Amino acid sequence: MKTALITGVRGQDGAYLSQLLLSKGYEVYGADRSGDSGLWRFRELGIEGRVKEVYLDILELSNIMDVMEKVRPDEIYNFAAQSFVQTSFEQPILTAEINAIGVARLLEAARKVCPGARFFQASTAELFGGTGAAPKSEGTDFHPKSPYAVAKLYAHWLTVNYREAYGLHASCGILFNHESPMRGEEFLTRKISLAAARIKKGAQEKVAVGNLEGRRDWGYAVEYVDAMWRMLQQPKAGDYVLATGETHTVREFIEAAFAAAGLPLRWEGKGVEERGVDADGKTRVEVSKEFYRPTEVECLTGDAAKARAALGWKPATGFKDLAALMVAADMKRLEEKR
Ligand code: NDP
Ligand code: GDP
Repeated sequence: MKTALITGVRGQDGAYLSQLLLSKGYEVYGADRSGDSGLWRFRELGIEGRVKEVYLDILELSNIMDVMEKVRPDEIYNFAAQSFVQTSFEQPILTAEINAIGVARLLEAARKVCPGARFFQASTAELFGGTGAAPKSEGTDFHPKSPYAVAKLYAHWLTVNYREAYGLHASCGILFNHESPMRGEEFLTRKISLAAARIKKGAQEKVAVGNLEGRRDWGYAVEYVDAMWRMLQQPKAGDYVLATGETHTVREFIEAAFAAAGLPLRWEGKGVEERGVDADGKTRVEVSKEFYRPTEVECLTGDAAKARAALGWKPATGFKDLAALMVAADMKRLEEKR
């Protein structure tokens, strides 16, 4: 039986990866900070009580070393992060402590305590930021455009460096946006699926969003954690883009989600005056400057050819199906709450 240590286990990817590894017979140690935030994900996925919980704050080296001594993992997946781009503009230093130096602490601890363990780092498509070429692949230059992405860039290169310098089996997944009913409510897709469900059920009037023109390559998180696991099964470590290869605007996601909720929208007005209006003429979506970012990554599309060839990985869930399954899950939750 293999042993895995997952940091940031109570987030979206941590919960899905736990489910996957448990189904493969792994002993799964889930590391996170205390409190009960995120435990709802384990409950919904039916894995509550099956993940061995260990307290781990990625800000504290001795804590990380103690956990590694105790668990002696075969595989380490690092998801722990301040993962919200917008917050990184308000908390750039904390974001760097967690997303950049936190990974230095983890790699140092792994090198000292369990150098044979295979290591996965959650890198991000945000690393590409403003670079013009599309779609992005492993060879595309990086130009991060937020404190979040700059911190993740340090972590990315440090992971590569520990592989080259010390021979650690350390791999980075350059992850394009991946979403699901387990996504945090602050992210665009989940904010919209929840709002569409609540508006349909009469529990909310409308929702305010930022840049409608932002384009993302949105995939389904369940499929992405499978690719992460595949990376660590390779004889040699490496870095892989995970993406669908399709890009859609925020506007298109909103349209797809509201249509799935049975509330098709039309658009009226321009710029911050633009509104999404339903068949009864009611404004359901409005634009607010509050959700604009000081610098925006306008467009992301990835080329996952390397992952397809080397890992045999191919995303299957399409854009509209993703929006629909997220809305259906939020509808169901609202119905069950009643
Ligand atoms: P989530 O935000 O859902 O999960 C992140 C987890 O990290 C949370 O459980 C959080 O706990 C934990 N965490 C935060 N700070 C610390 C800390 N100091 N010590 C220990 N744990 C901490 O992210 P996702 O599951 O969506 O993403 C997983 C990883 O993949 C992240 O690193 C993210 O940056 C990266 N990524 C994700 C993408 C996506 O589309 N989902 C795209 C590209 C990269 P708490 O709730 O207590 O804060
Ligand atoms: P990100 O790609 O990691 O920043 O994921 P997000 O889900 O936070 O944002 C995806 C895109 O949606 C970005 O282009 C955002 O600027 C855009 N966006 C527009 N309105 C909103 C909003 O209200 N909330 C969030 N989170 N993003 C929004």
